[in-house]
Amino acid sequence: MALVRLICCGFAGPVASIVTNALRDIKSLQLEELGEKFRELGEPSYRSRQIADWLYKRRVESFENMTDLPHELRRRLAKLFGFDRLDVVRVLGSRDTTRKFLFRLGDGNLIESVLIPASPALYGQKSDRRTICISTQVGCAYGCKFCASGLEGFSRNLRENEIVDQIITAERESGEKIDNIVFMGMGEPLANLQNVMRAIRIINAPWGLGIGARHITVSTSGLAPQIRKLADEPLQIRLAVSLHGATDEVRNQIMPINRRYNVETLLSACDYYVARKKQRLTFEYILIAGVNDSDEQAHILAKHAHRLSAKVNLIPYNTVEGLEWSRPSRNRQEKFLSILREHGVAATLRYEKGHDINAACGQLRLQTKREDVASPSRRRKNRQDVRVTI
Ligand code: SAH
Ligand code: SF4
Repeated sequence: MALVRLICCGFAGPVASIVTNALRDIKSLQLEELGEKFRELGEPSYRSRQIADWLYKRRVESFENMTDLPHELRRRLAKLFGFDRLDVVRVLGSRDTTRKFLFRLGDGNLIESVLIPASPALYGQKSDRRTICISTQVGCAYGCKFCASGLEGFSRNLRENEIVDQIITAERESGEKIDNIVFMGMGEPLANLQNVMRAIRIINAPWGLGIGARHITVSTSGLAPQIRKLADEPLQIRLAVSLHGATDEVRNQIMPINRRYNVETLLSACDYYVARKKQRLTFEYILIAGVNDSDEQAHILAKHAHRLSAKVNLIPYNTVEGLEWSRPSRNRQEKFLSILREHGVAATLRYEKGHDINAACGQLRLQTKREDVASPSRRRKNRQDVRVTI
């Protein structure tokens, strides 16, 4: 792990020197903030609706293309605001299968999103939904021992427009309409709560992307105080909690966050969420061989699920190069599932899609960075946005 960190830190230098657009991105503003701006500029308030329409319905990428605005106003806006773009570095997968996008941000950092085709009972949603799994941070500070995203530590929070742009760019690239959002890509969404909530408002608003709150799921590794804050938000967004261990003993081994907020502290924040929102949450539970897959863990997990009337999503561990963990045998996975079901828990065993394209969070980015270190000529090609579709 130390070697990986060393190599990747070496790579961070030239990327960090890429110049970023100094103007604030227009998509970082809420509708009412656009309205305020137009008041300051002495423009009628309906301008904010016009702009939102151009941005989120017609999806233009310059003020010049907003043809029903006066020329002078377009010029003034172009001096005040920018249009950040996500550049597509790689796309893995093909139509009708899970597709993974590697994006480059304006400052050169890499993030990834995964587009998942219609899938039965994904996070309790209807089966005909097209889901995207999006990132909220560059890297992650929480350092779960099994996860590729945490391997290189944390670089920075994503801004609201960078979160929303993952959806817009994936729709543009795939030609498909996305109608289900899961915050399960790189990063810990609740550690970037303010920007995540601002992005969710744009995703949900009728003037924005218009995706219903019940089709937006936020996943957390267990930031108990932030779960309570999220519970106090008026929007009915769904919560998934990455439990991955039913006891402190197991969770402490693989998730450092548990030393700050132990299982009981986490579950009591979940009690609060469920009481406030009056909705079921989901426990995510990766099955890792010999770590958290015992019968005993299954019995205790069932007890937690009952307490909260929670659903349980079992996910066989996706191997990460350089990490020692592996998934249990098929028999063991099914035994674990059957114990939960014997207790009457609503549980599914997710047959992981995209195992062959590094679909677990952070993996494609890590692999690309490793390849770039090993082969500087590919790195140069990547800088010019060469797109590799497999
Ligand atoms: N930080 C948040 C959201 C991003 S991680 C969280 O931890 O919930 C999204 C999910 O991917 C989490 O449940 C995480 O535990 C899981 N995950 C991470 N690495 C994985 C791997 N190698 N195989 C399967 N799932 C993984
Ligand atoms: Fe961060 Fe989530 Fe990965 Fe843990 S599982 S390191 S919290 S992204």
